[in-house]
Amino acid sequence: MTHRVADALPLTVGIDVGGTNIRASVVDGDGEVLDTVQSPTPHSARALEDALDRAVRELRRRHPIGAVGLAVAGFISDDRSTVRFAPHLPWQDAPVAARLTERLELPVILEHDANAAVWAEYRFGAAAGGHNVVLVAIGTGIGAALLIEGTLYRGSHGIAPELGHLQVVPQGRACPCGKRGCWERYCSGTALADTAIELLATDPGRSTVLAREVGRDPGSLTGRRVAGAAQDGDPVALAAIADFARWLGLGLAFVSDIFDPDLVVIAGGVSSSAPLFLDEAREEYARAVTGAGHRPLARIRTTQLGEAAGMIGAAELARAVLAEPGRRASRVARSGR
Ligand SMILES: [Zn+2]
Repeated sequence: MTHRVADALPLTVGIDVGGTNIRASVVDGDGEVLDTVQSPTPHSARALEDALDRAVRELRRRHPIGAVGLAVAGFISDDRSTVRFAPHLPWQDAPVAARLTERLELPVILEHDANAAVWAEYRFGAAAGGHNVVLVAIGTGIGAALLIEGTLYRGSHGIAPELGHLQVVPQGRACPCGKRGCWERYCSGTALADTAIELLATDPGRSTVLAREVGRDPGSLTGRRVAGAAQDGDPVALAAIADFARWLGLGLAFVSDIFDPDLVVIAGGVSSSAPLFLDEAREEYARAVTGAGHRPLARIRTTQLGEAAGMIGAAELARAVLAEPGRRASRVARSGR
């Protein structure tokens, strides 16, 4: 807490705590990443905290650090101190912020990874200038975050929003969450592969590159592969992409009916294939939203910060803690609260 850069916003560390890797970066007050270390994610809570401790200490040897923010794929308590549950991490009801604060003697905050990402896009990226922003991170599933009137919306229990589990098809595809027909079962990388396999099953005579690959091993098909095949003009892949685009537009129409955002940011691995589907998704959204033709529509953009967004947002939220009353910081940063 004594480390500060005179006359500048303090440097902070943002850490993306993923199921596979930990990536920790030193981030400055303009959202620039100055230095990064990465290591595999250990499988026990103790070893994971040791690894986080090591990463921060390594960065701290090279930079003066004021605070640490963790972007965690999981449910976080509303005081941002405890990981309630994270399906891919060894933490359950774990007071991670207190444990790391004690070890590092630095303020440590936790944030849901999608919340951290939308905050970064709002401060430094695709959501700059937005007012009511929805981030939809599309990968194997859908992660989502809301910014309402420039403030992160964390719900009453730190759990909202789970837009990926809006039920869009009653009795539809089974979802790991235990329900059926969730939006992410139709609008994700996983869904792209599932849709392609379904299309091939209804028309087994189709002889395309993708059909031959699926014929050999249906389990090997990924959303990335479908997107690649669509780029090459494979008709089955293109049909799967069109279906995905329709579900993306429809889902965004549902989301707009609830939140009326002015800006939507599409992030996650699938966003790199946005040229394949974004125009069609925008058209479907414009058709499906209530009051179509008689209302302004949300702008739909793709991520600017990409995979670094969670880290940058966590670092920026940690910086805001330093500006809170009772803490000394050189300049007041806008708080995410
Ligand atoms: Zn679900």
